[in-house]
Amino acid sequence: MTTVLTQQDLYDTAKELALEFSCTAHQWDQSREYCWRNVEVMSDAGLMGMTIPREFGGQGASFLDVLKVIECVARECALSARILVESNMGGISAIMAYGTKKQKEFCAPIVINGDKPAICITEPLAGSAATEMSTTAKKQGNRFILNGHKHWITGGGVSKLYLVFAKVLDENDNYLGIGGFLIHRDLNKGINPKGFVVGKRERTMGLCGMPETELLFDKVEIEEDFVLAPRSGYRKGFAELMTAYNSQRVGAGTIAMGIAAGATHRAKQYLCERKQFGRPLAEFQGLQWMLAEMDADVHASRLMLHDAAQSSITSSSGFPDMMSAARAKFFATERAIKVVNDALQMFGARGFGSNEPLERMYRDVRMFTIGGGTAQILKTQVAGHLLGMPTPQVRNGYAQSD
Ligand code: FAD
Repeated sequence: MTTVLTQQDLYDTAKELALEFSCTAHQWDQSREYCWRNVEVMSDAGLMGMTIPREFGGQGASFLDVLKVIECVARECALSARILVESNMGGISAIMAYGTKKQKEFCAPIVINGDKPAICITEPLAGSAATEMSTTAKKQGNRFILNGHKHWITGGGVSKLYLVFAKVLDENDNYLGIGGFLIHRDLNKGINPKGFVVGKRERTMGLCGMPETELLFDKVEIEEDFVLAPRSGYRKGFAELMTAYNSQRVGAGTIAMGIAAGATHRAKQYLCERKQFGRPLAEFQGLQWMLAEMDADVHASRLMLHDAAQSSITSSSGFPDMMSAARAKFFATERAIKVVNDALQMFGARGFGSNEPLERMYRDVRMFTIGGGTAQILKTQVAGHLLGMPTPQVRNGYAQSD
C-alpha cells in the first residue's frame, strides 16, 4: 500500500534531503561515483517515481509538483536532481503514457525502488538528427532482434531499464518507422541480456558522478511484450513517443535553473560577508545590478518552466506542449550558464578554486544547453512553429511528413 504524500510533504522532504546532499556533492564529483546512497534515501522518501500513477504504486504527482522538488535538490546537488528527472520524466513517463498494463506493472516498482531508466536515442552519426539513427530492430516471429550502437547514454551500466529507440524492420527488411524497445538489465539478479554490452564511459567536465556511456547491441532479442509501440503506428510513432521527452526537457531546464538559484543564493551571502575598500561587496552598485539580473533570470526561467509543466494539463498528450517546453528549456539553460558564471565572478579567485561549490556548479550547469536537445535545435523548433516551417530542415528543404 503506497503512503500518499502531499505536495508539501514532498517539498519538505526534498528540502531536508538537499541539505544532506550538499555535504556530499563534492565527494561524488571528485570520485566520479554514482550516488547510490542518495538514490537509496530518495527512494525511501518516495521521491523516485513520483509521477507514476497511484494504481502502479507511485504518488501520481503532477509535473509541477515534481519540478518544485527537483529545483530544491538541484540547488545543492545537480547529480541527484538528474536522477530525479529521469525517474519521474523521460523514459518512465513514456512507459506510463504509452506502455501496456504489463509494461507499467513491470517497470513501476523497479523505478520506485531506485532505478533511473536510461533513454537511448543518440548515436555517433545521429545526434541532433536523431531520426537518422542506424540501430535497427528486425521482427522475427514474436520477437525483435536489435542491432546497433548508441553513445552518451546517461546511466549506462547503472540503470536497470533501458528504453532504446530503433528503426523497426519487418521480416522482409521493410522499414516501418521508429519504435521504443525495453531492455531490463540487473546484474545483482543475474539479468544480463545476451548481446547487450555497456561500452566506454565518457570523461565529462561536469555532473561527474553520472556515467555517460556507449551501448552496443549485437543481436539482442526483445520479446514483443517489451516493445513500446506508438498508438499512431511506427511511421509517425517517434514523434508521439517523443512527446514524453518534453517533460524531460522541462525537468532538465529546472535542474539548470535550480543550480542558478543556488549560485545566486551563495553569491548574495558572499557579497554581504566579503569586504574590500573598507566596505562589504554588497555596497558596490556594479555588483548589486549583477545580482538583480541574476535574480530576474532565475525568476523568469522558473515561471516559463512552471508554465510549460502546466501546459500538460490541457495538452492532448498529457505532456508539456512542445513549444512551451522547448522555449523554457533553451531560455532557462542559457540564462543559468550566465547566472552561475556571474556568481563565480563575484567570488573572485575563491570562485575559481575547487573548495567552493561554485566551481562544480559552473561545470555542471554547462551541460544543459547540449543534452536533451541543444539550444540551437530547440530554437529551430520554436521558430519553425512560429513561422509555420516544419522541422527537420534538410539540405533540399524541409523533410516531408507523410
Ligand atoms: P551535433 O548534432 O553534432 O551538433 C553539434 C552542434 O551543431 C551543436 O551545437 C548543435 O546545436 C548544432 N546543430 C546541429 N544541427 C543544427 C541545426 N540544424 N541548426 C543549428 N545548429 C545545429 N542522448 C541520449 O540519447 N540519451 C541520453 O541519456 C543522453 N544523455 C546525454 C548526457 C550528456 C551529459 C550529454 C552531453 C549528451 C547526452 N545525450 C544523450 C546526447 C545529446 O542528446 C546530444 O549530444 C545532442 O542531441 C546533440 O547531439 P551531438 O552531440 O551529436 O551534436
